[in-house]
Amino acid sequence: MTTNAPENKPDQREKRVTLYDTTLRDGNQAKGISFSLEDKLAVARKLDTFGVDYIEGGWPNPTNPTDVEFFRRAKAMTWKHAKIAAFGSTCRPGGAPENDPILKPLVESGAPVLTIFGKSWDLHVTDVLRTTLEENLRMIRESVAFLKKNCEEVVYDAEHFFDGYKANSAYALDTLKAAQAGGADCIVLCDTNGGMALSWELEEITARVKSELNTPLGIHVHNDTGVAVANSLAAVRAGAVQVQGVINGYGERCGNANLTTIIPDLQFKMGFSVVSDEQMRGLRALSLSIDEIANLAADIRQPYVGEAAFAHKGGAHVDGVMKLARSFEHMDPSLVGNGRDFVVSNQSGGSLIWDKLRAIKSDIDRRSPAVADILAEVKRLEDEGYHFELADGSFQLLARRRLGLFKDRFEFLGFRAIEEQVGGTVRSEFTLKLKVGDEIEHTAAEGNGPVDAMNAAMLKALIKFFPSLKDLELADFKVRVLDNHSGAGAKVRVWTRYVDHSHPEREPYGTIGVSTNIIEASWLALMDGIQYKLMLDGE
Ligand SMILES: [Zn+2]
Repeated sequence: MTTNAPENKPDQREKRVTLYDTTLRDGNQAKGISFSLEDKLAVARKLDTFGVDYIEGGWPNPTNPTDVEFFRRAKAMTWKHAKIAAFGSTCRPGGAPENDPILKPLVESGAPVLTIFGKSWDLHVTDVLRTTLEENLRMIRESVAFLKKNCEEVVYDAEHFFDGYKANSAYALDTLKAAQAGGADCIVLCDTNGGMALSWELEEITARVKSELNTPLGIHVHNDTGVAVANSLAAVRAGAVQVQGVINGYGERCGNANLTTIIPDLQFKMGFSVVSDEQMRGLRALSLSIDEIANLAADIRQPYVGEAAFAHKGGAHVDGVMKLARSFEHMDPSLVGNGRDFVVSNQSGGSLIWDKLRAIKSDIDRRSPAVADILAEVKRLEDEGYHFELADGSFQLLARRRLGLFKDRFEFLGFRAIEEQVGGTVRSEFTLKLKVGDEIEHTAAEGNGPVDAMNAAMLKALIKFFPSLKDLELADFKVRVLDNHSGAGAKVRVWTRYVDHSHPEREPYGTIGVSTNIIEASWLALMDGIQYKLMLDGE
């Protein structure tokens, strides 16, 4: 061990470690995850608000149109804090970077930060790239230098660095020096296969690399031996100043280093200043919303942010915590937006709701019956399976209705959904009846499945009363089974995301519906989607 423990030194408090999030690139390669363009933009907004420093959006190239479009949209957006990074690789052997098919679209993405990976392992250079060791150094140096002329910052990812270092440390270091000579702003040591170094060894190697380079170092590790978080922290102890990882630890095979654990570890256990206290209180909400967008069930045992992270069940534990929280808890759960036990977790949600209510009505009285009523209603709905993190549209409607600030623009009278199989194809038709003012509207529409037919019928019925609805797009629709044990009778949660094309300045919004009947759950979510748009239009 060559480094001294940096913990508890007062000068460490101000020391920054930058967070480089790759949920949208490496995380998106996880089994079971496939972010759409709208998903990616929603995740990026959440990460920016939370306070990560870099958001790696993907790999822009012609075979990957979603990522090309992501960078086009991201360029037109305003980011509070984060810098958007595009990912790619060095130029090809024997070619110049200027007309390289990978580097060109990277530059054209317009991302301020460009990240490329290159080979550090001699075996990969000779047997995978099939080129000479010398040529690989040229490719790294010239690619970095070329990108550096075309963007604000270049991050160099040294792929398979620890494998390479063990096989041929002199050459592995030469590849890093080539990136340094090219002008890289940060050199990231990657444990690409995720099992090449345990923490003490990784710390030692990182410290040795640091003594050979002037460029700031970063760390990117995978969790194949279950130590990705520990390895990331070890690299920081050895002097790495950038940590790459993924929210909730998604990623190929066993996942990437889990930022949801690393961030509080760095801040609370190692004394680094990573995000503000207020942003840190949004950690659990961030974790839950990314799970929700990825359409994955939250892992209740996640450190810090999991539902069970501060839940006490054993009698002696509960008794101890009641007398003195510290006796069975390593920290105050509210610091990461979590709560003690399940009952209290709703109270921690309470302060979040309070902030939202104050945004709706600034002079609202915290002790007023209306606030108590809304909190009770939210709690009741949460117990039913509602989850307002990504359904701000539904929450706003609920709150405003109860505060007497919003009156529904139409009254729903009834619907009928018809699914019939005719000649081998299934046909969906939706009929509905609603009332706008004194007029009763009775409409039917067909669609590509029951929800599409429902959406078509709603818009058809309402558009003549509210023409602005023609610009409202149901951009995303997700269904989650809430109670796996009830089989086909299980409750489902439907979650939508709407984009209003007549108001590009408005952020896309989500709505939610929960029922054992999937048609009813969809209906609730879609009704809110339309009412919320009409509410915003009326303001
Ligand atoms: Zn990776």
